[in-house]
Amino acid sequence: MLPQTAPGADEAPRPPPERATWYTDPGKVFDNLYFVGTKIHSAWALTTSEGIILIDTVYDYNSEEAIVEGMKKLGLDPATVKYVIISHAHGDHVGGAKLMQDRFKSRIVMGGPDWELIEGSVNRFPNGKPKRDIVATDGQKITLGDTSVTLVATPGHTEGTCRCSSR
Ligand SMILES: [Zn+2]
Repeated sequence: MLPQTAPGADEAPRPPPERATWYTDPGKVFDNLYFVGTKIHSAWALTTSEGIILIDTVYDYNSEEAIVEGMKKLGLDPATVKYVIISHAHGDHVGGAKLMQDRFKSRIVMGGPDWELIEGSVNRFPNGKPKRDIVATDGQKITLGDTSVTLVATPGHTEGTCRCSSR
């Protein structure tokens, strides 16, 4: 499905689509990895001994239900999300960053050029933008308790796109 906002375009979000087009149940994938995304976009909760690392959010309009309510359904406490790693600053991935930052004081990790993309946007964040927090760099480790995630810069889709590797 097409992203709600075309990549790179500084357009105001369109009205949300019908819930049935995106809603799907959350679930445990394996060990300490849980899926809290939608039919179209993924978001992952990685549990550690000291809380949760969330990898990506979804849109502004469905992060509450998919991520916050999704975690609760799985017995996970969204208030224990200490880090949110955003792969890139398009609306289908960064839409829940402000919610997680404002409500749970989660630290938001994102590539520098993508923080700039958000800060330069006039139209894409009618409900407010997440405030610049941790700037992701290639090879950076995000450690929480017994678990580390290594960030791998993969610019292209956006200048600041990054991926995660965990072991
Ligand atoms: Zn994108």
